[in-house]
Amino acid sequence: MTPSTMNRRTAVLGAASLLALPAAGREAKPLPPPPTLWPQALQVPGGVARLSLGPAAMRPVAHVRQGDVDVPLLVQGDAIEWTAVAGIPLAAVAGPAHITVMTTTGAQRQVPYTVAAKRYQEQHLKVSPRTVDLSPEDQARYERERDHQLQVMATFTEQPAGAALLSLRMQVPVAGRRSSSFGLRRVFNGQPRNPHSGMDIAAATGTPIVAPLAGRVIDVGDYFFNGGTVWLDHGQGLLSMYCHLSSMDVRVGDVLQTGDAFCKVGATGRVTGPHLHWGVMLNRTMVDPALFVPA
Ligand code: ZN
Repeated sequence: MTPSTMNRRTAVLGAASLLALPAAGREAKPLPPPPTLWPQALQVPGGVARLSLGPAAMRPVAHVRQGDVDVPLLVQGDAIEWTAVAGIPLAAVAGPAHITVMTTTGAQRQVPYTVAAKRYQEQHLKVSPRTVDLSPEDQARYERERDHQLQVMATFTEQPAGAALLSLRMQVPVAGRRSSSFGLRRVFNGQPRNPHSGMDIAAATGTPIVAPLAGRVIDVGDYFFNGGTVWLDHGQGLLSMYCHLSSMDVRVGDVLQTGDAFCKVGATGRVTGPHLHWGVMLNRTMVDPALFVPA
């Protein structure tokens, strides 16, 4: 929560508690606690910025520049306080950053924030050599799949599938030991590769995985690196990804409620053993899933 969010909420709640002051001789009733807003803010590469956009009758429209594309942002809240929730790329450079908000008159204004430095450790892994030095056929397959995944990642639906976007607190999709390996710089068989952009949860092959938040299935496939994979769309560019699955029990278009089982843990794709690789994406940016779930 940004200080300005805190202040405005506190001010509003303060006003409400003044109104709720009891008449003389009657006992004051405690007010309900303010809503806990999720995800948690952590302004580092791979983290999330929560940026106050102030009050407005309608949900404001905001975007962030990524390369040469304006990528729309998730905006949550209500007429009292709107908040843009921006995923910060793992490749982001520490220092000043900003998002852009459209005003009601059609003008644009910038909302600045600062990305703090975070140094992620290096992790060395040993995997099947054919998943590191790709054959020409596997390379061609990977490039086709990458293009398809980029299309999936560009999904932006205005309305969430069933869920209110005030709190984006998620349920852990499968019980098991959670690694804290998000962001680690990965070296496979001695060769540097992309950083780890999700959370690994160790569980036996066949363990059911549940939807952490209501959503719609937007992709089901079997991919070279990710193995059996399902993508869910939770609305406004908030997507989640489940990889290395042994079974995918849904089809594109299916709508899931929080807690619905929809796939099973496996060891397909490039893995060292059975586990769920869980990815969470905001504005086409993989962010740390730990920011969305209770510790
Ligand atoms: Zn993983």
